Amino acid sequence: MSHRIPTILPDAVRHYLRVYVQPTMRCVACGKEVSAQKVFMDAAGQAACREHNLRRCYSCGRFMMPEGVHLPGYEKVCASCARTMSGAKVQTLTHVVQQHLVNMGFVIPACKVTCLPAAEMKRRHANMMGIAPLGMAMNDSEPYSIDVMAQQCRAGIIRTIAHEMMHLWLFEHECKAPKVYAEGFCNLCAALVLREFEGEDVLFHLGNMMEDKNQDYGLGFRRLLSVYYNFGLNAVVAAMREYMPACE
Ligand SMILES: [Zn+2]
Ligand SMILES: [Zn+2]
Ligand SMILES: [Zn+2]
Repeated sequence: MSHRIPTILPDAVRHYLRVYVQPTMRCVACGKEVSAQKVFMDAAGQAACREHNLRRCYSCGRFMMPEGVHLPGYEKVCASCARTMSGAKVQTLTHVVQQHLVNMGFVIPACKVTCLPAAEMKRRHANMMGIAPLGMAMNDSEPYSIDVMAQQCRAGIIRTIAHEMMHLWLFEHECKAPKVYAEGFCNLCAALVLREFEGEDVLFHLGNMMEDKNQDYGLGFRRLLSVYYNFGLNAVVAAMREYMPACE
């Protein structure tokens, strides 16, 4: 396989790379000029003096200014992520995500995607531990439905919709894969969809998935990712088909 070398560096890429080579930067908290070697940086390349000890938003990875917004049932997020994404925007993203999955060869069954603020998501879906999910796919109605926690960054919402759509695809194919492969597979497809989008929050989410210590969502994802790298998506799907009834 040969890689075409782009002759023109896209502006967005140039800007993104430049952020990291500035010898001095300004702290987002106090405005002081600081040496790039002596600061903490967030996922968007913003700098802050170490002594402010700013925490990062769990959804987008940016510093939380000042201390983040508490969402019932979830970790704190920044003010920007805390704004509930509108239903219209979620529907647009849903359409684009579904198109990417179709391009990858997955026919996603018809489904209704609903975005819910954190409190409502927790009320409907929190488990006994009080932990609420970012997304939930339900196959007990016609058409199928997906609930998405709407107080996330854009990449988080894209990732959630793609992940849950792939659960519906697994339902539809009566896949009985163990949880480690089912969640790993849904995360792998979500990562492949995320790659099609730009933004620091996208890179933050891809990085998160690589570092996720969870047995199913992290380890399962990385196992299937290595199958994908070495043998391609068809091999990953073939691995999942081992757990599906044979089709004639
Ligand atoms: Zn500072
Ligand atoms: Zn955020
Ligand atoms: Zn899942």
